[in-house]
Amino acid sequence: MTACVAKLAVEMTDNARRAPKFPLRLDQMAAPRKSLVNAPQGSAVSPLKPSTPAPVSPRAILRPQQPLHHAAAVSARKASPTGLGLDSAGVRQRMTDRLRAEGLSNDTVLAAMAAVPRHQFVDAALVTQAYEDTSLPIGHGQTISKPSVVARMIELLMGGANARARSTGPGQLGRVLEIGTGCGYQAAVLAQLAKQVFSVERLKHLHDKARELMAPLRLSNVRLVYGDGMLGHAPNAQYDAIIAAAGGDALPTAWMDQLAVGGRIVAPVREGVRQVLVVVDRNDQGFHRSIHEVVQFVPLRSGTVR
Ligand code: SAH
Repeated sequence: MTACVAKLAVEMTDNARRAPKFPLRLDQMAAPRKSLVNAPQGSAVSPLKPSTPAPVSPRAILRPQQPLHHAAAVSARKASPTGLGLDSAGVRQRMTDRLRAEGLSNDTVLAAMAAVPRHQFVDAALVTQAYEDTSLPIGHGQTISKPSVVARMIELLMGGANARARSTGPGQLGRVLEIGTGCGYQAAVLAQLAKQVFSVERLKHLHDKARELMAPLRLSNVRLVYGDGMLGHAPNAQYDAIIAAAGGDALPTAWMDQLAVGGRIVAPVREGVRQVLVVVDRNDQGFHRSIHEVVQFVPLRSGTVR
């Protein structure tokens, strides 16, 4: 990857000058900040062994949170529980207000975040946490990214000197390649801002799940692809923007090759013992790389899993 990078530079964006939280300079990066961590979650659960039940007192019995027939009906509909007020725009607005208070300032990005019902992308048991700034497990050892990380990465994607070349209208990203669809949340946010989104996932189960979760949103400009995103997605290259939701040791060469001149990559990459957000801009002369916040994403892995 480094062979493809003409120049390594550490730069501060305008945003950083306004709000010292973002981006951090390298000398500020010593201690990873908890708020930017997007750690994988979920641990293995040992399978239940069939055995003779031991006698238990009635007080020790774990009770379901809702009548079983209700839980079964919700699960059968594959819908989030209703009546929690999560469908209201006000809930999402409060989330974006909090993101703004944390220093995220791109109105276009925040409006896109406010438009996407995040609770529809998390499991029914977790919906009450859907609008907190936290990553949540989505199964298969993967997570839905924290809202602040999604907003920050898309903010970076839309910024930069070549932003006008990449946009197809006011505030519009052009053709975007996302690596790591997961449950599809970030792809849905990107769809509010891009002309076309191609999102690649290597785990077939998650690819299928994202398709199911995104269907009700009827996003005509998103194409979900099952494949190894380390190879990019050659059939639809070149891309104006490439964004990765999983971090590797280096940026795959395919991403650089498939980036249009004037385009930008935003991706987590290992840097020593840490993972940092790296921005790569491509212009007529070559590639320019800058380093931003310390983050912690799930690993970028090669190959596909059925
Ligand atoms: N974009 C998601 C976050 C997904 S987590 C969101 O909206 O919250 C990161 C995802 O990257 C995981 O689903 C993981 O399976 C996937 N991934 C890791 N390596 C990959 C690769 N080489 N190609 C495609 N997907 C990959």
